[in-house]
Amino acid sequence: MKLPLRLPNTLFTRLAFAFTGLFTAATFVITWSITAETARSQLDLHQRLGENLIQLTRPAIQRMLIESDIAELKNYMTLVVHDPSIARISIVDDRNISLYEFDRDVDQASWITRLMTTGTDVPRVLTANFSIAGKSWGRMQIVLSYKPLNSKVLLAVINSVALSAAILIITLILTYMMLARFTRPLRPLTEVAREYARGNWFSDVTLIQSGTREIQELTSAFAEGATTMQHYIHSLEETRELLEHSESRLRTLINSMHEVLFELDSEGRLSFINPSWQTITGFTIDDSLGKNFSDYLADDSAEIFAKENLGKINERNREVLLKTANGDSIWVTLDAATQLDSSGKFTGIIGTLGDISETVELNRMLSTYQEELYHLSVTDPLTKLYNRRHFDTQFDIILSDHQKEQKPLCLLLIDIDGFKFINDTYGHPFGDEVLKNISDLLQQLVRRNDYIARLAGDEFAMVLKNTNIKDATRIAYKLHDNINQAQIQLPVGHIQIQCSIGVAEAPTHGDTPQALVRAADVALYQSKRAGRNRVQVLSDDISKATMSIFGQGFHIRSALESGNILPAFQPIMELENRNPVAYEVLARMRHNGEIIAAKDFITVAEELGLTREVDLYIIEQALVTAPRDHSLFVNVDLSSFNDETFVRRLRDLIRPACEAGRRITLEITERESVPITQDLIDDITQLRTAGCQLALDDFGSGYSTYKFLELFKPDYLKIEGTFVQSILESESSRRIVNHIHELAASFGMDTIAENIESDAILNAVKAIGIRHGQGIFLGKPELL
Ligand code: GH3
Ligand code: MG
Repeated sequence: MKLPLRLPNTLFTRLAFAFTGLFTAATFVITWSITAETARSQLDLHQRLGENLIQLTRPAIQRMLIESDIAELKNYMTLVVHDPSIARISIVDDRNISLYEFDRDVDQASWITRLMTTGTDVPRVLTANFSIAGKSWGRMQIVLSYKPLNSKVLLAVINSVALSAAILIITLILTYMMLARFTRPLRPLTEVAREYARGNWFSDVTLIQSGTREIQELTSAFAEGATTMQHYIHSLEETRELLEHSESRLRTLINSMHEVLFELDSEGRLSFINPSWQTITGFTIDDSLGKNFSDYLADDSAEIFAKENLGKINERNREVLLKTANGDSIWVTLDAATQLDSSGKFTGIIGTLGDISETVELNRMLSTYQEELYHLSVTDPLTKLYNRRHFDTQFDIILSDHQKEQKPLCLLLIDIDGFKFINDTYGHPFGDEVLKNISDLLQQLVRRNDYIARLAGDEFAMVLKNTNIKDATRIAYKLHDNINQAQIQLPVGHIQIQCSIGVAEAPTHGDTPQALVRAADVALYQSKRAGRNRVQVLSDDISKATMSIFGQGFHIRSALESGNILPAFQPIMELENRNPVAYEVLARMRHNGEIIAAKDFITVAEELGLTREVDLYIIEQALVTAPRDHSLFVNVDLSSFNDETFVRRLRDLIRPACEAGRRITLEITERESVPITQDLIDDITQLRTAGCQLALDDFGSGYSTYKFLELFKPDYLKIEGTFVQSILESESSRRIVNHIHELAASFGMDTIAENIESDAILNAVKAIGIRHGQGIFLGKPELL
């Protein structure tokens, strides 16, 4: 059975009750012993009372007995028995006759008295014998009463009990007050603690700073602890919010990821997949979870996810085929890594799958596109044959393969004869048609394993594999005959084409691609020089002569590339006062530390088609080197105007310079007969419009025509130097010079006499009326 009473369960109340109990017990013991002591002393007093009574009354009673004054005795005793302690007194004489008798109720010792005086012998009957000198006079017997003792003991007990009760009450009050002092300040603490216990860490509970110092310190410590806790909770709350936020972001991110994010358990089964899985594969997430991931792989990558391999997986950017719900498969990139717990135990795999089907498709298109681009970059769009770039790399490979196997190989260079004429006569588009026809023909004639390319304009290369010079020559003649006999159908009718073929053999004529091309080129060059329309096999005698030209050509090309073609400036003087009015720009080549004059390399340059390059280079250098106020005469061959690229480059050089105020005169030379076309007229007119002047060089020699004079009306005629040189000795030369001068004057042109080499020539020229001239007598060409 449970008591309804609840025992105090706090330390303070227990202590208080214990203290009260102890105090009460101590009080009880002390009170008990005091009361018992009081009772005993009362008993003692009581005892002594009888004895004292006997002592006090003995002489008087003895005398009255001796005198037998009974009346007096009785009066006397009446006074004595007033004492309530006496219960009974009897006095008898010597004969035992009662002389006096007093009897009152005899009270027994009360239980309280007995309890208080336990163990104390209480003599109740006292006897006094009256005898003098052996003679007995009587006897007195006193019986004591317990009544006063009982009442005194009772009083003492009552006092003690009252005192104990008072002490108990005081103790209880004090304990209560003490408890109140201890526990009251604890109450708000308790309340706050309860609030905290309910999780209400921010409840608005005020902590009262009262009570003992300990309580105050406890309260402060509690308050500090609570504040710290609040901060802690606050930061935890913030952290939790941040975590929640980042978790939701992460969730959103994972859910909106294009890639599939997956997790496998240690058995290789899908334990997590984001929604992209369904988007990419078509399989639902619910159906897929718990299934083996390897079941979804369509290629040999499934092997990687075999159970025995799971712990070793570490894949980066691996392209794998993933099955889809519609039975197809798609390409994805796989990244996967193992996951370990804190003890290093393998727990599963986490990875991603990126859909690259589009990329794969794009890559496929790109590679097709790249192949096409490569094809375009190595083929010639007009004839669809391989171009020079492809030839350079391919020939290198073919040649080294043959060298390794020590097999013979021949190179044929095929160049159409007079192709420029076809272009000029029928127009460029017809020229293109011819090129296409020839290349088709060559492709039909080439053997299956041989290689053919268009190297430039009308030049083709044919590499005859595993073929010696004898067979190659036979093939070359066959080609030559076929081309000669071909009837090329053009809108204007049939035309027949002739060509020259150069043949060289490896390793006899060269063991590098460059050497062999040069050898075949020499043979071709010789074929052209020998009158064209023939097959020329490289032989020692032609090789040496031609190689020297080619060697010089090589030097010119190197000088162009290394900046060793330099402009020299020869003054054109006002003959009257010998002041320079302009400077003719002449080409010089620096070779092995020597400066070589134009006449010593220009023929080779012409032969190898390098003059245009040299002319442009010199003009460019002159514009950079010469002072801006110098008027410059720059040489250009008239035939160069047929070359569109040349005209464009010349225009880009001259026009900005003229527009910037520089005085430039184009000195046109006619080294060969050039048909004057409308394009040519337009090109030259454009340059003149830009501010450029025109001079006709070497007038009176070569091809320089009156037609040119009529069409362009140049600003200057330069009189051929050989006439000027011989003006003193040859009357006809003087007349020619005079005639040219008059002719020019009639067109309103100025003349410049070339090759004035002495004072006498100068005077002769002046005498004709010529105002401008140049020559070593007036000033040599100088490098700046
Ligand atoms: P040769 O007999 O010495 O070979 O002289 P050629 O007239 O054939 O002239 P050459 O071989 O030196 O020059 C070839 C010309 O072909 C130069 C250029 O104007 C022309 N040419 C270059 N490429 C093309 C092209 O793609 N189409 C056309 N129609 N002509 C081109
Ligand atoms: Mg040609």
